[in-house]
Amino acid sequence: MSDPAQNIVRCASCDGFGWNEDEFRGEAEDCDWCAGVGYVYRDAAGRDFAIPKADFNAVADELESLELARLREMGYQGSAKKPWQQAIRKDTSLGEDPYERNEG
Ligand SMILES: [Zn+2]
Repeated sequence: MSDPAQNIVRCASCDGFGWNEDEFRGEAEDCDWCAGVGYVYRDAAGRDFAIPKADFNAVADELESLELARLREMGYQGSAKKPWQQAIRKDTSLGEDPYERNEG
């Protein structure tokens, strides 16, 4: 379980994308603020900080529902990287394809 004193909010720096585009070079780089996750913890005092990799398992479900909500908000139709396809989430439960995992 995640700490109830900490809400998970969309990263203010990258707006949930997990990366920022370099305007000059046109390259995308992992967002420093959220470590490429797209979401951060917000504590009771309103401070945002990156979700530690060790917490990814605990917050996986919440991150996934937040991500789905964000994609719907954008009118998502295309083919963005799924959470389990992102290198940052390798070796966590988010590094596995949940559809594959749930089969059988
Ligand atoms: Zn970010």
